[in-house]
Amino acid sequence: MHGELILRPGKERSLRRRHPWIYDTAVARVVGKPARGATVAVRGADGAWLAWAAYSPDSTLRARCWSFAESSRIDADWLTARVRAAVARRAPLAPSSDALRLVFGEADELPGFVADRYGGQLVVQFQAAGVDAQREILAAALADATGTDDIYERSDSATRKREGLEPAAGVLRGNEPPELVPVTEHGVAYRVDVRRGHKTGFYIDQRDNRLRVQELAQRLAAKAAPRVLNCFCYTGGFSLAAARGGAGNVLSIDSSADALALAREHWRLNGFAAERAEWREADVFEALRALQRAGERFDLIVLDPPKFASSHHHVDRAARAYKDINLNALRLLAPGGYLATFSCSGAIDVDLFQKIVAGAVADAQVDCQLLQRLAAGEDHPLSMAHPEGEYLKGLLLRRL
Ligand code: SAH
Repeated sequence: MHGELILRPGKERSLRRRHPWIYDTAVARVVGKPARGATVAVRGADGAWLAWAAYSPDSTLRARCWSFAESSRIDADWLTARVRAAVARRAPLAPSSDALRLVFGEADELPGFVADRYGGQLVVQFQAAGVDAQREILAAALADATGTDDIYERSDSATRKREGLEPAAGVLRGNEPPELVPVTEHGVAYRVDVRRGHKTGFYIDQRDNRLRVQELAQRLAAKAAPRVLNCFCYTGGFSLAAARGGAGNVLSIDSSADALALAREHWRLNGFAAERAEWREADVFEALRALQRAGERFDLIVLDPPKFASSHHHVDRAARAYKDINLNALRLLAPGGYLATFSCSGAIDVDLFQKIVAGAVADAQVDCQLLQRLAAGEDHPLSMAHPEGEYLKGLLLRRL
């Protein structure tokens, strides 16, 4: 017998548009005693059918919908089919990289479940009570769909806490991952630390944008080998892409010594000459000012900071921080140069980000064109019913 959630009047509207989230404030009453993660039937105030959802009693996000069809049975076959379909949708991307996101939660109709592939190593995150309760089935389905049995778990602890779940990390299936997992993205070799690296070890979502930076470096190099500045470089992704495109010199800045050490190793591994790179352990906010004082100039600048706004409460402070780095980067940009600037704060939407950057352009008193809006790669799709899934956005500017 399934438990049931009966919604308050009017709260059925978003579900009719197939939005998958049900907040605690939308629930009028719970019928039965569903366990954490259990599948419940969701009905409107009038008793009309709405959805099957996973129940999360401790979270303000009280349930996430699996399916809007009453005929669905949310069992192992159903979950396995969803995993298999998500993995199959990524097959066309395999030639570009063996670091791919295979399952992206809500967008792949598995709310809260993330699965990434790094070569023969899989890394998963169970970020919601529903998918956590189905972890064995999902892991088995993933192993079956990929033919890879080595699955490591990196469930982010902050999200799990909100769901009333303990933090979880470690081997889920198969063997211990190697210290560093080798991958190749658009011909560039990287090593991924799936145990300690950010997210599941690597910023897979920036794959297309790293290639774009490579193309821009190549375009500039047709005239003269460009000087490139990569701020918040982490393990060197954009620096390596620029080098592959023909950058004469790349200055990479990050506050993490560990990230810089791996970035240097990547540089060596890809056979780029050491003198073409400079690695600076510093705070980007200060470093950009120091570069201005030193009269430096760059032809291509990448700004890919961490999430400045962790929620809607932090938007103002984050906006000031984005403005600051963009303004100070623009002051270093040579005429004819490019700025690729990003925000991965979900709380700051594309329009607001563009306004912030436009403000920085105005204050820098430079003329800039917007050439392209940038986003995560297609292995991080956005469900049209769930705009909250959008987080990574970028702008590619050219200074006149
Ligand atoms: N562009 C990278 C990902 C950037 S992640 C890629 O493609 O892989 C953000 C990085 O910013 C992290 O490595 C973190 O160490 C660094 N960071 C955070 N705050 C910083 C600051 N104030 N100054 C310099 N680096 C910072």
